[in-house]
Amino acid sequence: MNCKKCHTKAVIGLPRHNAAFCKVCFNEFVHDQVARAIKAERMFGPQDRILVAVSGGKDSLALWDVLLKLGYKADALYVDLGISGYSATSREKAVRFADTVGAAHKATLLTHTVQEAEGAGIRELADLIHRPTCSACGTIKRYQFNRAAVEHHYDVMATGHNLDDEAARLLGNVLHWQEEYLDKQSPSLPASVEGFAKKVKPLYRLSEREIAAYAVLNRIDYIVEECPMAKGSKMLLYKEVLNRLETESPGAKQSFYWGFLDKQAKAQPASASMTEKDQASLHPCSTCGQPTTAEICSYCKMMARASAAKSS
Ligand code: SF4
Ligand SMILES: [Zn+2]
Ligand SMILES: [Zn+2]
Repeated sequence: MNCKKCHTKAVIGLPRHNAAFCKVCFNEFVHDQVARAIKAERMFGPQDRILVAVSGGKDSLALWDVLLKLGYKADALYVDLGISGYSATSREKAVRFADTVGAAHKATLLTHTVQEAEGAGIRELADLIHRPTCSACGTIKRYQFNRAAVEHHYDVMATGHNLDDEAARLLGNVLHWQEEYLDKQSPSLPASVEGFAKKVKPLYRLSEREIAAYAVLNRIDYIVEECPMAKGSKMLLYKEVLNRLETESPGAKQSFYWGFLDKQAKAQPASASMTEKDQASLHPCSTCGQPTTAEICSYCKMMARASAAKSS
């Protein structure tokens, strides 16, 4: 198998593109897919400051790596969830990457430690308020990333969601006809109001397998294990189903998700109406000042419930 571009020995085959690449041309392909995503979805420009949400996993570290190599000003934030047997290793990977590749590009890694800030790790917090760990985790991560982006004046927040993540999420939303989520499933969500950072997903054109190959070929040291809380999740099941479809018919994931994006772009006059709707109903949380639709934001409510449960 030879490289489609330079005809030397290929290191990876990409059935959905009917192509194979050597390491150099594969890196070019990955960089090009990210550059296309940034341009097509008007994610950010060369002068913008980007905050990458890193977890120590392959997707977020590969995203940080690509953005730095493309010349963008990208710092990162790592949220330490305090999950024993997972968080210490994932943190170590994020810090090591920041000390090597990040430092070479003068990029900074910010960290937020749930145990220190909230007085307990994510599992204990979730138990205290009787909520599934992943739902409590989602609230904390969304809040802390948005807060860091706004407080440190980043123009945009980038996450490492890839084509497999987005296709699986779309499948879940369609299976349950969750139209309000479908509306917001875009690779680029504008800063709806003052106090909410713009959110983008520059890896949406690349599959999980392609990103794993990029990480390995570029010697990015990432945590291979998934978060133990993800076991048995519906997302993993949807990914499995889509992988079976992909094996039978290469390109299935891409046409499913990209097809949805095409239809969405035709149906919606950008996100103007969503912005107006959000703007009308949001105001500062009376406890922390972050934007919310209620009087107190869901993060502050969650923390108040956790400390009440602790002291009772
Ligand atoms: S699997 Fe759940 S607990 Fe783990 S990082 Fe994801 S959302 Fe958080
Ligand atoms: Zn080549
Ligand atoms: Zn609040």
